[in-house]
Amino acid sequence: MTLLKSWVASANSADTPFPLNNLPYGVFSVGDDYPRCGVAIGDMILDMEAAEDAGLIALSDLPVFDVPYWNDVMEMGRDTWASLRARLGEILAEGSADQASAEPLLVAANDADLHMPFAVAEYTDFYAGMQHAKNMGEILRGSPDLPANWLHIPIGYNGRASSVVVSGTDIRRPLGQTKAPDADMPSFGPCKRLDIELEMGAIVGTGSEMGQPVTVSEADEMIFGYVLLNDWSARDIQGWEYQPLGPFQGKAFGTSISPWIVTSAALEPFRTATPAREKELLPYLAEKKPGLYDISLEVLVQPEGAPEPSVISRTNYSRMYYSAAQQLCHHASSGCEMSSGDLLGSGTISGPSREEYGSLMELSHAGREPFTLETGESRGFIEDGDTLTLRGAAKGDGYQIGFGDCTGTILASVKFPD
Ligand code: MN
Repeated sequence: MTLLKSWVASANSADTPFPLNNLPYGVFSVGDDYPRCGVAIGDMILDMEAAEDAGLIALSDLPVFDVPYWNDVMEMGRDTWASLRARLGEILAEGSADQASAEPLLVAANDADLHMPFAVAEYTDFYAGMQHAKNMGEILRGSPDLPANWLHIPIGYNGRASSVVVSGTDIRRPLGQTKAPDADMPSFGPCKRLDIELEMGAIVGTGSEMGQPVTVSEADEMIFGYVLLNDWSARDIQGWEYQPLGPFQGKAFGTSISPWIVTSAALEPFRTATPAREKELLPYLAEKKPGLYDISLEVLVQPEGAPEPSVISRTNYSRMYYSAAQQLCHHASSGCEMSSGDLLGSGTISGPSREEYGSLMELSHAGREPFTLETGESRGFIEDGDTLTLRGAAKGDGYQIGFGDCTGTILASVKFPD
């Protein structure tokens, strides 16, 4: 696959995250105007409500794009997804007969505010990166041995849909209960070990019925697209609360996602298989076709007032042990109803060497080995005023499929009410 040419000149550069090959879906507003659906193309956004009003796009007899979310399109199913993508490709392609009608419907991305691209139905987070699981075992329990179930089950927990916010939303340092190993009593106050988790989020487009499992292949076809996901984590709160039921308040204060839904269709040329199995999976979870994607990822930290961010990690989504399709299959396997708009966090993505670790917990070895930023400052965990950014792109021949930044700044914690 090579770059597809568009009449939008900025979409034809090798550096743009949003060439015609991508066509990611978001929600935008300009000034005080209301948020509505848009498609990114180069440094412009195609106003989808206006395109529908102009008769350029018709998915249904009724308007679909007069709402600030993509859930209605997701629920319309895979055939609609394909025909919409094909039609957008036609409208925006070089030499298109629709150029004169569509050009006035473009908005400069620089003038737009971006909003949540879809309403999150429910949010589940997994733990499917092997290097991360080994690193956390080594740090928390003194042994990199994986839990007994890890090679057989994509381990997950049910998170909070209410925690999910769009990139650019500030995150308040959480309050919580913690206990130092040598203390008699726990204490309550601001988190002291605030961290990120570099993840991908898979968005379920079409749901399943309660009581009815889905195969890995069916699960793959249910996934509408992907976003970058930062599963902000309060390690000290998590460390005290997590046994025996898993994460709770240590994860519930914020989860950031990138603003554009990059469709599974746009990522199709970048499919790659999960790594070799260390133990054969039970047949229901076996991968039928490559379920991961070759997506380069990086993490950046910018302290308050610093002129530039520092890159602290570079890795790839292909490092994961389980694909989103395997996770979704496992999730529905008991008969759990999966809904359009469900968000599945991949689990922290960490590669085999320190440069590829996807959390500060791993990068600083639980704060014991702080690392140095380009500003000369050191970090073990996140400080107030720090801005954390995730970036990702699948890199093709002369083009890339980018996600747009997933960023968030940490604000000092509030005072607990009297
Ligand atoms: Mn996580």
